[in-house]
Amino acid sequence: MLRQVLLTLSASTQARELIMANPLTRDVVARFVAGETAADALTVSRRLIADGLDVSIDFLGEDTVDREQAAGVAEEYVRLLGQLSAAGLAGGGRAEVSVKPTAVGLGLAEHGEKTAAENIARIAAAARNAGTTVTVDMEDHPRVEATLRLVAELRADFPDLGCVIQSYLRRSTDDCRQLAEASSRVRLCKGAYKAPEGVGLAAKKDVDLSYARCMRILLDGPGYPMLATHDPRLIAIAAARARQSGRGQDSFEFQMLYGIRPAEQSRLAADGARVRVYLPYGSDWYGYLVRRLAERPANLAFFLRALATRH
Ligand SMILES: Cc1cc2nc3c(=O)[nH]c(=O)nc-3n(C[C@H](O)[C@H](O)[C@H](O)COP(=O)(O)OP(=O)(O)OC[C@H]3O[C@@H](n4cnc5c(N)ncnc54)[C@H](O)[C@@H]3O)c2cc1C
Repeated sequence: MLRQVLLTLSASTQARELIMANPLTRDVVARFVAGETAADALTVSRRLIADGLDVSIDFLGEDTVDREQAAGVAEEYVRLLGQLSAAGLAGGGRAEVSVKPTAVGLGLAEHGEKTAAENIARIAAAARNAGTTVTVDMEDHPRVEATLRLVAELRADFPDLGCVIQSYLRRSTDDCRQLAEASSRVRLCKGAYKAPEGVGLAAKKDVDLSYARCMRILLDGPGYPMLATHDPRLIAIAAARARQSGRGQDSFEFQMLYGIRPAEQSRLAADGARVRVYLPYGSDWYGYLVRRLAERPANLAFFLRALATRH
């Protein structure tokens, strides 16, 4: 219900202005989002990398409605990668980028898949020049097949192109088996979307069990697993399984979202693990913020209280 209210508000520019005008809610935004510009993303990346963390930067664009806009998003990533390279942050993959297929055209009524593939190829070429990588985010379940297909095709030219598996989907253990091949970079997450009963798992317990199964397949395989979760139990299982599989600390990584469990991010990195922080920036931060708040009622309650406080 509260989430619905916030989502409805997200259409309103006034709501965004209200949030940015209030120092308390502005601080909440700053906790989860680097800022509105590429310069903001660079500043935060520099700080995180200096603290021993890696980053994957996500440009939060507006809903992409035509080919020009999709090309504009790709252009933003190409510029960002150039800036990361010039700042010495991209080498060795310290800062990479995450790209949503619909932001670069997948959702377009005509030639959506082709447009997205061309734009991701441009970004991947720029990433290669900068000495780093791209991970293709996974969106809602109707996009999964097309996204996996375009990643598989692009991997012929860009073998290090990363993809994402969501454990809430019933198909995911099979997908992990297929993707657990030499040098393939696979991010495993629980999934931020909903799917109908036959397609997705509804109970949290089942999603967690599926995550553990997928994680085991990836860690036992020859690829490079990227374990994206804040769940303390799954992180402990991952660390134990990696030891059992004889994996070195640099043969897989943990990933967490910017602003969520930062102390745990630092602890894992201090223990020698590779930890990558998913760092969003851009003017369209509202939908992203609502998803993060909705995942945790305590955050949402704090945010609404802050919003109601006059300053
Ligand atoms: C690096 C990264 C990339 C992602 N990429 C994608 C993607 O491409 N596609 C996709 O569908 N989803 C993606 N996600 C989102 C993911 O699917 C989940 O929605 C999100 O990570 C919450 O799941 P969890 O594994 O942390 O487990 P949960 O069961 O949600 O949380 C476990 C514990 O983590 C802590 N926690 C979780 N969320 C919060 C929060 N907002 N604030 C404070 N504490 C919190 C709490 O202690 C909680 O008990 C990504 C997540 C990460 C970390």
